[in-house]
Amino acid sequence: MSTPRIDINLGKIAHNAKVLSSLFQSKGINIIVVTKGVCGHPHIANILVKSGVKILADSRIANIKKMQEAGVKATFLLIRTPMISQAESVVLDTDMSLNSELSVIKKLSEFAILHGKVHKIILMVELGDLREGIVPSLLENTIKKVLALKGIKLQGIGTNLACFSGVKPTTEKMDMLSTIAVSIEKKFHIKLSIISGGNSANYNWFSTTKDVGRINNLRLGESIFLGYEPLTGKPIPKLHQDAFMLVAEVIELKNKSSVPNGEIGLDSFGNKPKFKDQGMIRRAILAMGVQDVMVTGLTPKLDIEILGAGGDHIIINAKKEDLKVGSDVSFTLKYGALVTAMNSSYISKNIITPISAAAYCAIIEEKDRLHKKNTATMPINEDHTPLISLQDSDFNLIFEKSIQKNYRYLVRKEVYKKIGRISKLLDNLGKKLIIRSAWRSFEHQQKLWDQKASFMKKKYPKKTAEEINEIVSMFIAPKRQSTHATGGAVDALIYDLRKKCVMDFGTNDGLHIDLNKKCYPKHPDISEEAKKNRKLLIKLFEDEDFVCDHKEYWHFDYGNIGWAVEKNKEYANYGILKESYVQSATLNYPDKVFFYL
Ligand SMILES: *Cc1c(COP(=O)(O)O)cnc(C)c1O
Repeated sequence: MSTPRIDINLGKIAHNAKVLSSLFQSKGINIIVVTKGVCGHPHIANILVKSGVKILADSRIANIKKMQEAGVKATFLLIRTPMISQAESVVLDTDMSLNSELSVIKKLSEFAILHGKVHKIILMVELGDLREGIVPSLLENTIKKVLALKGIKLQGIGTNLACFSGVKPTTEKMDMLSTIAVSIEKKFHIKLSIISGGNSANYNWFSTTKDVGRINNLRLGESIFLGYEPLTGKPIPKLHQDAFMLVAEVIELKNKSSVPNGEIGLDSFGNKPKFKDQGMIRRAILAMGVQDVMVTGLTPKLDIEILGAGGDHIIINAKKEDLKVGSDVSFTLKYGALVTAMNSSYISKNIITPISAAAYCAIIEEKDRLHKKNTATMPINEDHTPLISLQDSDFNLIFEKSIQKNYRYLVRKEVYKKIGRISKLLDNLGKKLIIRSAWRSFEHQQKLWDQKASFMKKKYPKKTAEEINEIVSMFIAPKRQSTHATGGAVDALIYDLRKKCVMDFGTNDGLHIDLNKKCYPKHPDISEEAKKNRKLLIKLFEDEDFVCDHKEYWHFDYGNIGWAVEKNKEYANYGILKESYVQSATLNYPDKVFFYL
């Protein structure tokens, strides 16, 4: 995919919008989403509207027109108080605007009359941040004149804090706005339908206040798109901070000194650069610079350090990260970086659309069909590595009870070591790996199949044997096809020692798993918690070079045909180990290790 690019995850944006919308709604506050940070990108605007947002706001008429021309169906609010020279366009191209100058409002009135329109306005009140707004003592005078203008409807009042001067929207400030609203309504016998208390920076006030007073509206940009509270920079619970990711490519990677060699003058921006001596370092150059994005607003996902940037380059200390020329390097963005990246014509906008459950399942089923076809022809070059019982290890593991008597949870030696490392990582997280199943004999596999088939027969008495087989085979492999017979497959879950329960993976109640399509690892319709937990489980195994099954988030393969197909190997290392082999091996080696004969 082309770089530099910004990956825009519409599903995550929609999620953030829905979470914040219902949070603020719980105390009677409606939200307007401010699209200036994404330059009024129509796909983003559409997903916001689909998520229930009714009013979209932007500081630029050009962005509003872009959304309208793309067919976005919303009410459009202009939030930068208008230039008098653009008054006609404001009336024609927007539905509502924030205002603070009577001369401008008069011009809006003239054009509204000319075009037979009514333009709605929200009067901005200055409460200390010293950007736009009428000082409270002069507000009544302005309102008296506004109410006399034809073609103008006073929709409400608002304020904007935490921008120019960083003044916090405290309870005191919000109460002040409420009091002003009440007194205006009383004095002029009008109803103000919008009392707009501010922007994303109002989050902490909202979370801590008992009474929001008359405030019934907020205009949110940053918190919806980036999931942060701007005054403290802290992530807002339940929101995604990575709905936008900026990706740049490595064009040079060399070991060089951390300090320059020569006499130092001004750099290309007229500043005197400073350098920290870290000796020789792995310096990488990325093909992206301050001409593309506000580099100071980038946070790398990897453990690397941004050393500096020029117009076209970002220089990083690659530290120990596995980068090479051509590698992608990803960053999350702060607001300034988001705005500049979205506005850069050099950065391509890569829209990631949320996938419906049905579409996802169809893709997975097709992948799985292909996978099965390829495993059937994958050659096996058996490496004769032994089976070892996980029960004989001193790893911290929990073993799920098996229907097979004297089950020993056998895996290949390499898999045994990998499980050991995974269990150690979990120890540090206050968690324990649950081993549900490992090597299974044909007899064991048949038992599982029969048990499921009889359960399904009871559940669906009208279905034919063939239909039952089809359902069962969705999740249980026929004995000869199961990779569990190789000693390279492990079924695992995670136990949370602090919460004293099996983690929630979306289809399980403790150890019991409901077998249905939501077991497909990345099914979109499971809770955020379950998604996070599956991610953890799968990452632990993938980091050890296992592959996760397409349909079962708990099943992992290494070394066998399932693994070889997914990893594009020429052959698999682990073939089927039959019961008879393992048994005779047990006789020869009665203690811990069983050898394949
Ligand atoms: C930018 C802006 C907002 C949105 O601010 P965020 O911090 O992105 O939520 C709201 N109101 C006005 C007047 C603005 O200019």
